[in-house]
Amino acid sequence: MNSTEAKKPSKKTPNDFLFGKVIGEGSYSTVYLAKEISTGKEFAIKVLEKKHIMRERKTQYVMREKEVLMKLNHQFFIRLYYTFQDADRLYFVLSYARNGELLDFLHKVSSFDEECSRFYTAEIVSALEYLHGHGIIHRDLKPENILLSDEMHIQITDFGSAKILKKGDNLKEGESPESGQPTRKNSFVGTAHYVSPEVLTSKNAYYSSDLWALGCILYQLLSGEPPFRGSHEYQIFQKITKLEYEFPDGFKPVARDLVEKLLVLDPTKRLGCEEMGGYGPLKAHKYFEGIKWETLGEKKPPDIIPYLPATSSNPENCWSRLRPGLDDARIGEIITQTIITDDERKRRLEEQAQKNEYHKFVEGNLILKQGLIDKRKGLFARRRMLLLTEGPHLYYVDPSHKVLKGQIPWSKELRPERKNFKIFFIHTPNRTYYLEDPQSHAPDWVEMIEEVWQRYYSKK
Ligand code: ATP
Repeated sequence: MNSTEAKKPSKKTPNDFLFGKVIGEGSYSTVYLAKEISTGKEFAIKVLEKKHIMRERKTQYVMREKEVLMKLNHQFFIRLYYTFQDADRLYFVLSYARNGELLDFLHKVSSFDEECSRFYTAEIVSALEYLHGHGIIHRDLKPENILLSDEMHIQITDFGSAKILKKGDNLKEGESPESGQPTRKNSFVGTAHYVSPEVLTSKNAYYSSDLWALGCILYQLLSGEPPFRGSHEYQIFQKITKLEYEFPDGFKPVARDLVEKLLVLDPTKRLGCEEMGGYGPLKAHKYFEGIKWETLGEKKPPDIIPYLPATSSNPENCWSRLRPGLDDARIGEIITQTIITDDERKRRLEEQAQKNEYHKFVEGNLILKQGLIDKRKGLFARRRMLLLTEGPHLYYVDPSHKVLKGQIPWSKELRPERKNFKIFFIHTPNRTYYLEDPQSHAPDWVEMIEEVWQRYYSKK
């Protein structure tokens, strides 16, 4: 399909498509997987209820999204092929980003390794260069708006908050507050993390507001968390306007240098903005060494691998901390008995209720193994008491505040994996948990979890 065809007002109707599963729900839209009957081609069709849009006063967002999408013709963006409507609904026929949101991959592995982060950051830079070159500011760039194609290339979406600068617009002044808010009502939790300081303080958006978001995304890809965090939006906004953030242990200096050149309070001083010489100097930053910009979209993206560099608390080699051999004491450290008689369970539960301060968190289940571990998310780690119980359950509790923080969900698909004596993974369908045992007993955890798995799932 060429671009002229794509932009031409089309006479298509909903009857030209087979509507399959729902692939997503927005706050005022539903997105379906659909097949064009005449070609067999798959699309994502965004369906918007007219009444709902009017009631929510979202007309300007919908129109803006359509206007921007119609201007874009680049592989790093979702493409709008057709639009049509019937009495009740508007239909946007979009390219289908089969691999979903970058955010889901980030949640799954916590953070990306260096090659992967560099690759995806480069694709975003390349996309922003195109977007800004066409006079468009995205204004809501974040990992959930970066979708992934069949081949795992980025396809940026969600242009409801975008701003199209017309020729003659004063770019440096950004835009007036009333012409659009940077964050939307009903926006996702998390939007606040990527908002630039100028949008918060003056409500002005610049091209380089997207470069600020880029800095936040790069930081998050490598570390697992966005740079400005807080328990509520106000706190996050405070940190943004004061540029209050830190780099965790293990953040590579060259990446740090780039983040520091993007997260600059003055929008005219960010690497990549016009005042700083445009995209040339940004693409020439040492972080992107080795990136072939012209052929980025043709390159096979690297596999998504988590970033787990050695840190002071997690040296690459932790074998040296263990004594050689398998003496009685070492054997004693490994509990292997998971099949328990009823009498034994009763006795142990009574003892647990009396003596174990974590009993109150396990819903009356017998604890089979417990220990302090560091639950890692990217480069961040939180100390937790991990409690493996019958049920089965894997509870984790904040040991300082004695608060249950959550559970690692058990299912037949749960699989533990040992990386070394300190680190083990628990793979679940939606997330891989990175756990670090400061006492170097990771193999015991893996063994015990495997036994519990056998007990509950091997015959089911
Ligand atoms: P809101 O409107 O509340 O900001 P949104 O912009 O995410 O939400 P939609 O654009 O309607 O809303 O998308 C809803 C969901 O559908 C999202 O989770 C998104 O991941 C998915 N989705 C949207 N467009 C596509 C597409 N072209 N290919 C694959 N998935 C898509």
